[in-house]
Amino acid sequence: MNATLKEGTLRERLQSGRFGYGIELVTTRGFVTPEKPNAVVELGRRLAAEPRVDWLSITDNPGGHMMLPPDWLGRILSAHQKPIVLHLTCKDLNRNGLESTAWKYASEGFENILAMTGDYPRNGFGGVAAPVFDLDSVSLIQMLNAMNQGFPVPEKKGEGIVLPRTNFYIGCAVSPFKRHERELMPQYFKFLRKISAGAQIAYTQLGYDMRKFHEVLLFLENQGITMPVIGNVYLLNRTVAGLFHRRQVPGCVVSDRLMELCERYAKGPDKGRAFFLDFAAKQLAAFRALGFAAGYLGGTTKAETFLALIERAERYSAADGKQFAKEIQFAQPDEFYLFEQDPATGLGVSGRINRAYLASLRESPTTKENGLGYRMSRFVHDKVFTPGTSGFRLMQRLYGWLEHHPTLARGLHRVEYAGKALWYGCRDCGDCSLPDCSYLCPLESCSKNARNGPCGGSQDGRCEVDDKECMWARAYERLKAHGETEPMLEGKTVYTNATLRGTSAWANTFLGRDHHAETPPPSPPPDAKG
Ligand code: SF4
Ligand code: SF4
Repeated sequence: MNATLKEGTLRERLQSGRFGYGIELVTTRGFVTPEKPNAVVELGRRLAAEPRVDWLSITDNPGGHMMLPPDWLGRILSAHQKPIVLHLTCKDLNRNGLESTAWKYASEGFENILAMTGDYPRNGFGGVAAPVFDLDSVSLIQMLNAMNQGFPVPEKKGEGIVLPRTNFYIGCAVSPFKRHERELMPQYFKFLRKISAGAQIAYTQLGYDMRKFHEVLLFLENQGITMPVIGNVYLLNRTVAGLFHRRQVPGCVVSDRLMELCERYAKGPDKGRAFFLDFAAKQLAAFRALGFAAGYLGGTTKAETFLALIERAERYSAADGKQFAKEIQFAQPDEFYLFEQDPATGLGVSGRINRAYLASLRESPTTKENGLGYRMSRFVHDKVFTPGTSGFRLMQRLYGWLEHHPTLARGLHRVEYAGKALWYGCRDCGDCSLPDCSYLCPLESCSKNARNGPCGGSQDGRCEVDDKECMWARAYERLKAHGETEPMLEGKTVYTNATLRGTSAWANTFLGRDHHAETPPPSPPPDAKG
């Protein structure tokens, strides 16, 4: 079936200069027939027929819960010729599954993809499903970008057979609502990495601090990057506010002050409905006034509520929007901001980076992360694992010789594994990312094996999944002690090679078999100008 989507429609709408509105639809678990459509189908049909709605965006097993896939609903709604964005995440499919899904989407006429790492699985038939995370948002975006450029069939490289080019309009997420510098800065560095990999449009995480939303625009401006940014509005109610306040939804924050406000209004006769609706409409008006390309709405399953929100937001003027941007600033305690604050607006000032942050970059602060083990790892890497050094050349010769002496090679692999298991918690993946992750093993220290930067789920520097510090917050502190934070995610995108599992990572590095071996990355897309 070929969905009747207009080519480039979302791209055109977002680049038209008119503030747009997108709506998030969440599918359902269970069996649905054309004769017995369910509520989300009815909601989607109603909104797809509505001219004030610019696009519909369909989630992919959100919150790690199993649902019908997004293209199921996309196909039903495609007759309305409304642009449809399908979310694609890395938790349930490996790279072949993701590529196969992307070819399916392209074949069905779906071109708008929001590519994310995805939430950790929370349930499944007979127990919790095993997460995949073979790729992450960066490597997925780069794969989609490579599909846009047409890449050769790997098995037939010599024959010059190139796969047909797709026309994906690739979206990425950015998560500015982080309390600490060690969480926020890696988010921004990863955002740049997504753009270099091929992201053409950015969706913010949902949040309730317009200063932080605005900083995403300031950050891009400061980097000289032009791309549409979409502000995320999630309609609150007392229950949802409580979930976000208790940090029960990864990456979603409601501050103490906002929670108090929500509780106060929720005691009213309408349970705060009018307040919550107006609050969300004010956020939309603020996005419009600040220069966001569009607002992205979620948090209700009623078409009338979405439409009332849009209607109310449209009634507010640009001056109102600026005032709301000043009022809706619900920060976390001691929250880190990248830009200096303008006292008149409460927002960040263009081009004026946080002075205390800049000063701290020159100080190389002491931190518990910069211990002897880390410093030793850096030293050994510089002397032995860095190509071009005499140590590296010596090891290349040794491992070349060991290729012809398999018994000795196996013995040395056992020594390597025992040492790295003791020192780093190594799991013997054979394609080592210790140098990519500041000498923290991503399989041991990151619950999503995220090798290209942090997922968006950390809370107060802690991992969204397990009771530990986020690996990338730790990596940032390690690098900061050496004045090396800014280029921390500038390397080429990491793709691990599954066939190396259980083999010597040292041998694979010295003999050029792992991801450290040189391969040219695809060029960035024309829309994202750096
Ligand atoms: S080889 Fe793989 S599992 Fe072992 S430390 Fe390196 S990244 Fe971790
Ligand atoms: S360690 Fe950090 S990046 Fe990894 S899963 Fe946890 S929060 Fe996400």
